Amino acid sequence: MVTSLIDGFTDFRNDFFGQDKAFFKRLIRRGQHPKIMIISCSDSRVDPAILFGTRPGELFVIRNVANLVPPYQPDDQYHGISAAIEFGVRDLGVEDIVILGHAYCGGVNALCEHARGEAAEDREFITPWIKIALPALDELRGSDPKFENIKAVEQHSIMNSLDNLRTFPWLAEREKQGSLALHGWWFDMDSGALWCHSPPDRSFTQMIPSVSE
Ligand SMILES: [Zn+2]
Repeated sequence: MVTSLIDGFTDFRNDFFGQDKAFFKRLIRRGQHPKIMIISCSDSRVDPAILFGTRPGELFVIRNVANLVPPYQPDDQYHGISAAIEFGVRDLGVEDIVILGHAYCGGVNALCEHARGEAAEDREFITPWIKIALPALDELRGSDPKFENIKAVEQHSIMNSLDNLRTFPWLAEREKQGSLALHGWWFDMDSGALWCHSPPDRSFTQMIPSVSE
């Protein structure tokens, strides 16, 4: 099964690396200085480097189930996502953070299943993880406990993660100073459109239109 990866790497070696050896030498010599952090889903269909046409060194990428950001919680637990956020913000000094959500997110769907009491009972890590986005679902449900528009939950979950990013004090400080900007984007796999969170409203607007049929 990994043969396609070996083939792919061989192509990369020949066409990208081999054509511009100085490019990686520069990245090694100067180190990495990405200006943008992207927090996206692990979903195999939503690869930030492919979606945004970036080159090595341009994006600091954090991927996890449902592109979630946990709240600031400094303790002795294993906080992989928070560690990556800390490194990107405090050590690399990224200037923008994009939370990239997407349509048909399995993680968000699992959250809705959990809320309906239909989550797979033998999942040891997924349910506690996706519950990070429970406030987003609660916000939408309001007085209608049956509300379940998955796309709306996906978008509200992005806003919930933006809220959680701001609980990291050194991150919030940089945003306040104007040296860091936060963005929430949602990729519509149906139409090819890209939507963005447009504060102060708790809503999304289309930034890049759909591909016409
Ligand atoms: Zn997803």
